[in-house]
Amino acid sequence: MRIGIAGFLHESNTFTEEKTTLRHFEEAFLHYGADLLPVWREAHHELGGFIAGLEAADAEIVPLLAAWATPKGPVTRDAYEYIVRDLIDRLKTAAPLDGLLLALHGAMVSEDHDSADSETLRRIRGVMGELPLVLSLDMHANVTQDMVRLPNATIAYRTYPHVDQRARGIECAQLITRMIRGEVEPAQAMVKLPMLIHIVQQYTGAGAMAELMAEVEATAATPGILSASLAPGYIYADVPHMGVSVIVVADGNAALAQREADCIAALVFDHRYELNAELPSVAIAVQQALNTSGTVCLMDCGDNIGAGGPGDSTLLFAELLRQGMPKICAVFYDPEAAEDCFTAGIGATVALDVGAKTDSLHGTPVSISGSVQNLADGRFSETEARHGGMGQLDQGRTAVVNTADGHTIVLNSRRIMPTSLQQLLSLGIDPRAHRALIVKGVTAPRAAYDPIADAVITVNSPGITQAGPEAFPYKNRPRPLFPLEDIRQKSR
Ligand SMILES: [Zn+2]
Repeated sequence: MRIGIAGFLHESNTFTEEKTTLRHFEEAFLHYGADLLPVWREAHHELGGFIAGLEAADAEIVPLLAAWATPKGPVTRDAYEYIVRDLIDRLKTAAPLDGLLLALHGAMVSEDHDSADSETLRRIRGVMGELPLVLSLDMHANVTQDMVRLPNATIAYRTYPHVDQRARGIECAQLITRMIRGEVEPAQAMVKLPMLIHIVQQYTGAGAMAELMAEVEATAATPGILSASLAPGYIYADVPHMGVSVIVVADGNAALAQREADCIAALVFDHRYELNAELPSVAIAVQQALNTSGTVCLMDCGDNIGAGGPGDSTLLFAELLRQGMPKICAVFYDPEAAEDCFTAGIGATVALDVGAKTDSLHGTPVSISGSVQNLADGRFSETEARHGGMGQLDQGRTAVVNTADGHTIVLNSRRIMPTSLQQLLSLGIDPRAHRALIVKGVTAPRAAYDPIADAVITVNSPGITQAGPEAFPYKNRPRPLFPLEDIRQKSR
């Protein structure tokens, strides 16, 4: 049994001007053929799960390509065509295959395609013919009909923070090997809901989303059902297929898949008010943090790097300084200031204007002065299951500055999601020695930060990834869409 594995993943924020280029993939993850195996084999990622699941089934793994870049603006035509053509060429060369396991994000937009993932699937099907194809998706996929029509089965993550990526990859591998052996015959259905789930409420550790995911798990365990997924979607892409999706895969019974998907969808829709949220403003969140003892983690919603934020917003930092918060630890994407520190050297005194250099939406640079505490190449590794599933991470050349008034400022040269505490620990920073940690994410960082925070406050900071959908000038989204339009009737 020869099974190809491939991944081409990007979450594209259409409200961000900066496009995602080939260089962004090269700086993050772009591995061809067998080179992808050592990078992804142990990772808590679906690619790692594909490898583990296929090895357990004694299948021959044919590694094709793995590409991933930090969320940002739509992928350029050049980058998309370069990567997808390479993937198609490798798929042709690898023939004959018995099937393909494919990892897509599901919210990739390119300059030419509002669902670049659907285009990738069309091209892959064009080469593969009817061979088995099992697709894994991020929970933030804006699922299209083609994402369930073209693959034989489609499986999305079921946790946020995404800590089940490897498990879903193994599930995909088990499904495709059973399919090739003729033991099962997947038939799937997808229901699209006219609603959004607030990013804070997407957290699967508690609340309505935890209950709904338990229902999804129960459905997946029902006889005759092979898999079930609930994808909240991604609100920072203005596309016609934005919104919540439910996918159910049944064994040889499309009507059963449809019935079960309808059932979960109705339940989700009935919970839509609970799945909404209101968050404190920057000023109020800082007051709350000052009234809380211990180490407080402030989630900077408006500069959520994992959703396309610039990583250099100073709005929250400036307000913390204004209200007198002691011992702040903040990370800014600021290659220019980092290089100034490298030029000055460890122990040198520096005066810098940090942050807010990407655009005009995320505050103004803040003047700091202090001493350069550490300089590093920015590479670190993470062995725990953390959102994103990456084991080897690289924040680029990085400087740590201890300011004269007791704050710790990290200046890095590559935008990376704050999903691993090793981002700080590898630099010699103890997060617990601080009163306030500014974390540029919403829910994804919680797998790393919950265990060390005495309190977590999610802040409705302004920015390109602001929490509510109300702030964004949508042109293409479906209408009506709760909560932008109130939809009072039950779904069915
Ligand atoms: Zn996601």
